Parts: sequence; C-alpha cells; structure tokens
Amino acid sequence: MPLMTSWVESANSPDTDFPLNNLPYGAFLTDEGEACCGVAIGDMILNVSAMEADGLIGLDGEEEVFLLGDWSDFMALGAAHWTAFRAELTTLLGADCKDPQALVPYLVPQAGTEMLMPFHVSEFTDFYAGKNHAVNVGTIMRGAENALPPNWLSIPIGYNGRASSVVIDGTDVRRPWGQLKGPNDDLPRFEPCKRFDFELEMGAIVGTPSDGPVTVQEADDMIFGYVLLNDWSARDIQGWEYQPLGPFQAKATATTVSPWIVTKAALESFRTSTPERERELLPHLQEPAPMLYDIALEVGLAPEGKEETIITRTNYSVMYYSSAQQLAHHTTSGCPMNTGDLLGSGTISGPTKESRGALLELSWAGQEPVTLDSGETRTFLEDGDTLTLRGAAQGDGYRIGFGACGGKVLPALDDPYAR
Ligand code: MN
Repeated sequence: MPLMTSWVESANSPDTDFPLNNLPYGAFLTDEGEACCGVAIGDMILNVSAMEADGLIGLDGEEEVFLLGDWSDFMALGAAHWTAFRAELTTLLGADCKDPQALVPYLVPQAGTEMLMPFHVSEFTDFYAGKNHAVNVGTIMRGAENALPPNWLSIPIGYNGRASSVVIDGTDVRRPWGQLKGPNDDLPRFEPCKRFDFELEMGAIVGTPSDGPVTVQEADDMIFGYVLLNDWSARDIQGWEYQPLGPFQAKATATTVSPWIVTKAALESFRTSTPERERELLPHLQEPAPMLYDIALEVGLAPEGKEETIITRTNYSVMYYSSAQQLAHHTTSGCPMNTGDLLGSGTISGPTKESRGALLELSWAGQEPVTLDSGETRTFLEDGDTLTLRGAAQGDGYRIGFGACGGKVLPALDDPYAR
C-alpha cells in the first residue's frame, strides 16, 4: 500500500509517525482542561470529542461515545464500528475531503499538548514470550543447561500484573525500595533497588470482551490495537522474590505505555508469522494466519542533561508467540477477558547483542557495561536517566509509528517509612 495523502500537509512527510494510513487513537487535555479523544494526523490532533458534540462525526446509532475523552466505550462496540469509523476519518482527513476548512477548528498541535491515558486499563498481564530473552535470562539466572524452562515451548508463560501502575509516556518513575539479598548474604535487607531496568515490549489492548475459552482467530479479532510498553523491572528485588510464584513487587512500580493506540487495521499490511516450532503447539494455540507484526523498535537512554544514545534496535517480529496466541492461552481456563485488558508481549530481544531488549541482557547482569556516546557506562539505570522506546512499521514511502514511550528515573525516597 502506498502513502495515502491528506490535506493536513505534515501527514504527507515520509518521516511522520502519523500519515493518513495510521490514524491512531489517543486522549489529550484541551486548553480549557477538558479530556478529549483525538486522532493523530501528521503533527496535529483531530479533536473527535468536540466533533461528536457538534454533530460532525458519529457512530451509527451510538451517542456520546467520546464524551469522556476515553476510547473504552468505542473499543467495546466491536469490529464493524471500528471499520466504519476509520473509513469516515479516512474520508474526512483525505486529500479529497470536500470541506477541509470546516475541520480546521478541530485541529490541535501535538507540540505542547498534554496526552492522557487513552483507555481504562482493566487489568494488566505480562508475558515472557521472546525466545532470545528467555534464553538469555535463563542462562544468567540458572545456567545455559537449564535456560528455557520445560514449559516454555508449549505455552506463553505469563503472570498477572498491576493495572493500577500503568502510566503514560512522560511520567516520571521513582526508583523503588524492596527486599534485596545477594548470593553471599544470609538474610535480605530493605534498601533502594540497585538494579533498576527496563523491558522493551509491545502491549496488545483487548477491545471486545470474552467469557470462556476462545480460539487464536477469535483472540485476534478481539484485539483493538497496540502500544509500546516499558515493563520497568527491579532485577535485584525480582531475584529474591520470584521463586516460586514469579515476579511481584519487582514489576509493580510502573509500566509505561505510548499515548497512541495504533489499530490493528493500520498494521494489517505488516503482518508476519511466528517462527518455525521445534515442538509442535497443541491445536488450540496454533496460528491459523500471520498474527505477529513487522515493527522496527529502538530504545534511547539519555543521562540527566546529556544527549541520548540508542542502546538497542530490534523488531517485534522476533517473538515466539503472538498477542493473539497469548490472549487465547489466557482464556483456556475460562478466565473472562474485558475491554481494556492490556497484554505485555514479553521482552523483545533480537538474536544479537545489539538487539537485546533489557539492560539485564545488554550488560549481561552487570558484567559487560554498555558504553554511551558521552563515554559514561551503564550496567543498570541510574537516577536522572530518561529511557525512551520508539517503534514504527516501515511502508513504501510512509511509516506507521507509535510515538514515544518514555520516562525518567527519579531517585529513591530517603526512607519510605519515615513518617
Ligand atoms: Mn516484562
């Protein structure tokens, strides 16, 4: 598919994340302090909440879907409405629009506009579905002999995370305290985390709910769209607490997502398949069609007051399980899934050292520090570091971008129990 042109000039640049082909959904704060639903087009935002209020856009038979500046109600309406609304936006913002002047008052510049969470996060589940990551972490934690747990090739391993600490791009993240115990310590100490890390992931957002087991195809149909996701991780807290029930406080401090939901429709021409299997999956987890995506990803690290260094480049297509497979697996027990459920893909690490999706792997648990452009080195994140994920699917003369997913690490409190 070539670039689709828009009367919004900035949307026609090959460098924009948001051409007419994309049309991602976000929420923003107006100058009047009102939360509104918006669609990104070039360097502008189309205020669809205001357009709905003025009767300029609407969903057949549905009223005030965008009133509260949250896409959750729209997500719950299902695929027929998603398709119809995207078609309406494509006509309104396309180069052949009959009356663009009527829409100009509804455009807001992205620059300087505060973005808000675009949907209500019902629950958050995080997976461990990248093979390079699982092998690397398993080797670090348990040795090369036992790197992949025996269940890994049969199911996408996951844990139930916290929706309450999912935050949007630009939110500062405070270094947590927790129980730490080194290999030579008899007992744990309560101290600030010393091995604070990121995890480069994609987040899949459930649109339509389910009640009972669903197939992989049904799961794919339920997914509304995708965001970039940083699963901030306290490695030293994790190392002590994770056996036998998995991560808990190590992952609960914060999870950052990018502000724009890139829809499945925008990513359609970038579908790709999960890799060949060394162990055949049971039928209920087999993919009937390509359900992974070719999305180039990178991570930048900027120390306080210094230039950013890109510390990794990889691609979502290296994952072993797609989000549709993860969602299908999630329902096998009969677990209901709701509108706004967020599924983290698991850390996306490529096969090479330069494409690893976490500092734990990049610095090999601290043994091989990463050198930044400033000459400084990092084993794990330091206070004042800003960590930013970016991603885009590259089309012919355009790209489907996700915007940024960033956050700055604030120093730990002196003592969280000092009252
Ligand atoms: Mn994770």
